[in-house]
Amino acid sequence: MMLIDSHCHLDFPAFDADREEVLASCRLNGIEQFIVPSVGPENWQRVLKLGEDRRDIVVALGIHPCFLSNLDEVSLSDLEQTVNAHQDNIIALGEMGLDRRIDVPLEKQQFFLMHQLKLAKEKQLPVILHSVRTNDEVAALLKNVDIDRGVVHGFTGSGQQAARFWEMGIRLGVGGAITYSRAQKTKAAIAAMPLEALLLETDSPDMPLAGHQGQRNDPQNLPLVLEALCALRSESTSVIERQLRLNTCETFNLDRGQAR
Ligand SMILES: [Zn+2]
Repeated sequence: MMLIDSHCHLDFPAFDADREEVLASCRLNGIEQFIVPSVGPENWQRVLKLGEDRRDIVVALGIHPCFLSNLDEVSLSDLEQTVNAHQDNIIALGEMGLDRRIDVPLEKQQFFLMHQLKLAKEKQLPVILHSVRTNDEVAALLKNVDIDRGVVHGFTGSGQQAARFWEMGIRLGVGGAITYSRAQKTKAAIAAMPLEALLLETDSPDMPLAGHQGQRNDPQNLPLVLEALCALRSESTSVIERQLRLNTCETFNLDRGQAR
């Protein structure tokens, strides 16, 4: 097995005490590469450093909607400058998106998302999207800027929303959500999509699996997400594992031999 965790926040302080141990144990268990997106100016340098230090970690720069409250447009020009300075060290822009649960007005979130999508378009980089109860709004902006490569990470939503993203070339990140029995709509959506549309992720340290609420999630749980996905699909585990790895490499232009 050779799995890629397509979305995990390994730079977060939650991993400060045992980051190396977690990564070593992942490697022993066939989890060999990690995509680490950033959340805003506060962690851009930390994430870049992680990508610099470790061959098995690739990183992205972006501004997450949940970290917007104290930011203004200046952060968008800072983002552009940082992206320009580190273009060879990043594989995507993100994470960025919309979230209906938070206090930040949706208009402000949309403003930041729109600008980041335009930057991604200009730099020809894929996007890592966060969308909580905003799939239709996110899809509309993607169409507007004509984005055709990226992922809606930790996808939850309907089959129609999933299909609309994939029609645009945007893949769906499959994470711990599908381990919950109440997630019937999302599970049905994931089950109905072509395998080519899916990526595997944990969103560590967030998105604990069913039965692990309140605990830190970590990339060692990736095989459990794969197992939950396999239960929804008719293809064999090895076919699913291989195809999802190829999907991740294609989305982010990763060298297929990079995770050696
Ligand atoms: Zn995330």
